[in-house]
Amino acid sequence: MGENRWIRTPMRTLPPEQSRHTFDEVALGYDEKEVLDESYRCIQCLNPLCIDGCPNHNPIPDFIALVQEGRYLEAALVDYTNNALPSCTGRVCAWERQCEGWCVLNARGDGVRIGAIERFIADYALRHREEFEALRAERQGRSAESAGGRGERRRVAVVGAGPAGLSAAHFLVREGIDVTVFEAQERAGGLLADGIPQFVLPMGTVEEEVARLREEGVDFRFGVTVGRDVALEELESEYDAVFLGVGAQVARGLGVPGEDLAGVWSAQAFLHRAKLALDPGAGVEAPRVGRRVLVVGAGNTAMDAARTALRLGAEQVRVVYRRTQAESPSRPVEVEHAQQEGVEFEYLVNPVAFLGDEDARVRAARLVRMRLGEPDRSGRPRPEPIPGSEFELPCETVVLAVGYEADASVLGEPRLVERHGRIAVRDASGRTPVEGVFAGGDAVLGPATVVEAVRDGRLAARAIVEWLKEPSHSLRKAVRT
Ligand SMILES: Cc1cc2nc3c(=O)[nH]c(=O)nc-3n(C[C@H](O)[C@H](O)[C@H](O)COP(=O)(O)OP(=O)(O)OC[C@H]3O[C@@H](n4cnc5c(N)ncnc54)[C@H](O)[C@@H]3O)c2cc1C
Repeated sequence: MGENRWIRTPMRTLPPEQSRHTFDEVALGYDEKEVLDESYRCIQCLNPLCIDGCPNHNPIPDFIALVQEGRYLEAALVDYTNNALPSCTGRVCAWERQCEGWCVLNARGDGVRIGAIERFIADYALRHREEFEALRAERQGRSAESAGGRGERRRVAVVGAGPAGLSAAHFLVREGIDVTVFEAQERAGGLLADGIPQFVLPMGTVEEEVARLREEGVDFRFGVTVGRDVALEELESEYDAVFLGVGAQVARGLGVPGEDLAGVWSAQAFLHRAKLALDPGAGVEAPRVGRRVLVVGAGNTAMDAARTALRLGAEQVRVVYRRTQAESPSRPVEVEHAQQEGVEFEYLVNPVAFLGDEDARVRAARLVRMRLGEPDRSGRPRPEPIPGSEFELPCETVVLAVGYEADASVLGEPRLVERHGRIAVRDASGRTPVEGVFAGGDAVLGPATVVEAVRDGRLAARAIVEWLKEPSHSLRKAVRT
C-alpha cells in the first residue's frame, strides 16, 4: 500500500469516444484486486464519519472490514441489513458529498471510494445469488410468524415501485408480512427504471434487485394507478397498512413563451421515452433529436439528458445554466463524463423564449446573459438578467431539466396533501395524518435522492411493523367497523 494510502484506486471507464455512441454503462466498477486495494485504504476509524455522511447510515466500516478479508458475501449481507438496493446506491449516490466526502482520509488525500466498494459487493451477491441466499438463511432466517403475532399473516400494500417502495417491500417481507406492490407503470424501479439512464444505471441491475424481491415473496401488480384504477380506500379495506412511495412526477417548466413548440421536451418525458425505447418489448420509438440540442438546467437530470441526446445522434449538445458551475447541483463525475463526451456548457445564461418555425417546431432559443447578485432563500447567489444582453441560439431540440414536483392529490385523500403537492408526514417514520398509512421518498421530500428514498422506505417499514404489533391496529378493521 505505502504512499498509495492517500490516492484512491481509479475506476476503469469506457473511453469517451466509445461511450458517447452507446447506452452501455460508462463506469465499469472494480475488479477483485482493485476492490481489495481500495478497501485496504480504510483505516477503520473508531468514530466513523462515513456513517454520519450517509443519509441511510449504512454500516460502512463493517462491510469494508469483511471486504478486506475477501468475505464479499458476508459484506453484502451486512450492507443489505440496512440498504435494500446497494447495487443501485453504489452506482448513483453522490458519495463525494455523502459517505466518501466525510472520510477522514480527505484531510490528506482522497476519501475511500465507498460507493465503488458497495457496488462490487452488491453485484457479487447478485451474481452468486444462491450462495448468498443460503448464507442469509443460515445467518438471519426469516420471521416465521408475521408481525402482529398469533400466526395471522399481516398484509401491507405498497404504492409505487420506486426505491422508496422497493425498500419498504424489502424490509416488510423479511418480517413475514405479505406485501403487494401497486405500480402505475408496467415495470418496477420508478426513476431508477424510467429516469436515470442505462449508461449510469443498467436496467439489468434494477431488474435483478426486483427479481430478488419477487423470490422473497413480494407480489407486484403493474399498470395500476392508485387513485384512478383503484381507490386508496379499497386498499385500506383489503390491507392492514399502506405505504405510499409515489414519487414526484410533475415536470416543472420555465413559464416562457414557446415551451409548447414541437421539439421542446421535459427532461422526464425525454429520458423516460429514451429508456423505454431500449426495451424491444415496449414498442416505443426513441425521441427524435435534431442536429443541435439545448439542455436547460445543470443538475443530474440535465447531465443525463445531455448525454442521452448525444447517444441519440445529436451533433452538438449545449447545456445552459443561469448560475455558474460552482452553484451547479450536479455530481462532479457526471459533469466530467459529459464534458469528456463532448457536451458543451454555457453558464450565466437563461432562456426567455423559444422561437418556432412555420410548422410550430422549435428553431431557436432566445437567451439573456445573467450575473450573480445577493444570495436568495437557498443561500446561493441570485442570478439577475443583464439588460440588453439577449441573443439567439439556433437549436432543433430543447430539453428542460429545471426540476419536478410531487402531486399527491391524485391519491384522492385531501388529508394527505400538504404544500407543493407533497404528502404530509408527522415524523421520520413516515406516519401520515391518516392512521395506518405511511409515506416516504420524493412524494414526501420533493425531488431528493435514491438513498433518501431507500432510507424512508426502511424507516417506514420499521414503523409499520411496530404499528402492526398492536393486534387492534389494522386498516381492514378500521374500515370494517
Ligand atoms: C433523470 C433523473 C436522474 C436522477 N439521478 C439521480 C442520481 O444520480 N442519484 C440519486 O441519488 N438520485 C437521482 N435522481 C433522483 C432519484 O431518482 C429520486 O429521488 C428517487 O427515485 C425517488 O424515489 P421514490 O421511490 O420516492 O420515487 P420514484 O422513483 O419516482 O418512484 C415512484 C413510483 O411510484 C409510481 N406511482 C406514482 N403514482 C402512483 C400511483 N398513483 N399508483 C401507483 N403507482 C404510482 C411511479 O410510477 C414510480 O414508479 C434522479 C432523478 C431523475 C429524474
